Amino acid sequence: MASHLNQPHFQNPEKAREYLERIQWPNGPVCPHCGVIGDHYQIAAKTENGARPGLWKCKDCREQFTVTVGTVFERSKIPLNVWLEAVHFLCSSKKGMSSHQLHRTLGVTYKTAWFMTHRIRKAMEIRSMEPMGGSGKIVEADETYWGTNAVGKRNKRVGRKITGGAEKMKIVSLIERDGKARSFHVRNVNAKTLAPILRGQIAPETHLMTDEARAYITIGGEFRKHSTVTHGQGEYARGIAHVNTAESFFNILKRGLIGTYHQVGEQHLQRYVSEFDFRYNNRTALGVTDAQRTDNALKGIGGKRLTYRRTHAQ
Ligand SMILES: [Zn+2]
Repeated sequence: MASHLNQPHFQNPEKAREYLERIQWPNGPVCPHCGVIGDHYQIAAKTENGARPGLWKCKDCREQFTVTVGTVFERSKIPLNVWLEAVHFLCSSKKGMSSHQLHRTLGVTYKTAWFMTHRIRKAMEIRSMEPMGGSGKIVEADETYWGTNAVGKRNKRVGRKITGGAEKMKIVSLIERDGKARSFHVRNVNAKTLAPILRGQIAPETHLMTDEARAYITIGGEFRKHSTVTHGQGEYARGIAHVNTAESFFNILKRGLIGTYHQVGEQHLQRYVSEFDFRYNNRTALGVTDAQRTDNALKGIGGKRLTYRRTHAQ
């Protein structure tokens, strides 16, 4: 990890900006005002009117812009290379990095570190509208519980179907086998809450795998095939029928939540699970390096504003 941090874009704000330009604009600068990609004018870093470094002028609409316009970096007092370091830390450690660790590592205040980690997590949220699965594909759906129960004990997996735990935080994950994960913090686990998620995220031609929970029975009928394993009877796999991929994902998630984040408020839980989705979806086993994972998170930070606009234009 240390060798990565020797790179100029982690050391120098100017180099960080140039790096960000390469990530955000692989086909040349994009004007955020009119959306035109191309051969815009670069305004000299030091001019009489004190132009900022990295300033561009659109050839089309004549407006000025920089790579950080409309992103969280734009108004931030934190140097861009420090932001890049923070993104790198959250992307390269398997269990994430807490605001406390980041505060100590980067030498920023705890409040700043907290702000940074939350913004980075937001950038990691999944924006794909593409359905998961499809013909010949398997998607596992499973749920887990997080938090303490009424008597203050750490959650136990055993008996989770029976106790359910109204006071516990609930997470539903959809995981395509050999593919990607999408996790959702839900208020309750029942057919009413799960059906719209499964229907909205998974292609109907998919082979769905769940455990025997009743919440999945009706919605399961909407997919090409629905296989279940009966955890209640100690059955964890029957041929290809299992939700072990989801269980492994929950193991990483819970180890991260316990080891790194200790206390996660319910209002922030979605952000944390999105962070674990992001790392899983950009995992080494899929051929993604630490550097590429960092780049993908940086793309997410830059893409936020455009996504927001597109949603509202519909
Ligand atoms: Zn323009």
